[in-house]
Amino acid sequence: RAESRLFGSDELGALLDRVARQVAEGRIPGVPLLLVGIRTRGVPIADRLAALIGDGVPVGAVDITLYRDDLGLQGHWPVLKGTDIPFEVDGAEVVLVDDVLHTGRTVRAAMNAVCDLGRPARVRLAVLVDRGGHELPIRADYAGAAVAASPEERIEVRLRPIDPDDEVVRVGP
Ligand code: 5GP
Ligand code: MG
Repeated sequence: RAESRLFGSDELGALLDRVARQVAEGRIPGVPLLLVGIRTRGVPIADRLAALIGDGVPVGAVDITLYRDDLGLQGHWPVLKGTDIPFEVDGAEVVLVDDVLHTGRTVRAAMNAVCDLGRPARVRLAVLVDRGGHELPIRADYAGAAVAASPEERIEVRLRPIDPDDEVVRVGP
């Protein structure tokens, strides 16, 4: 499979800086801000954004797993596997964080999980890469980069400490 590097470590850092600045500037004054990463790689991204924003912004996680339906005809279904949000979402601004936005189905499941815990003042979405191919009326409020990817391609986001390097790679068909 052909690989081409879209962003190296410095560029990925610059994308995170920009998203962090936008999240901080977009905050509702006086309202607690919470970041919730979508496992796996949404969590280290949320941790980095929180460090850049400062102010002790807490980071939680949701685990959404894709299951293939029995016939394999309707693609994959995102199912909530676990939630690690040990703080009050009532009245807070919750920013969901994922590495890549594709169809939007995972984000929908994450929104449901957060809204089951209380009534946030607002829920927003931050992603490192929006690869297009949305199948639901879900858009990123904050996106580091928009990358047009064909259905056969995958956009790999590699992040320390999970991966050896910070980089974004297009993996071809
Ligand atoms: P969805 O289609 O629900 O938007 O994306 C499904 C899940 O797979 C999400 O967690 C999303 O981050 C991930 N995903 C979908 N397409 C890609 C891709 O091209 N690259 C990576 N790294 N993750 C993807
Ligand atoms: Mg993901």
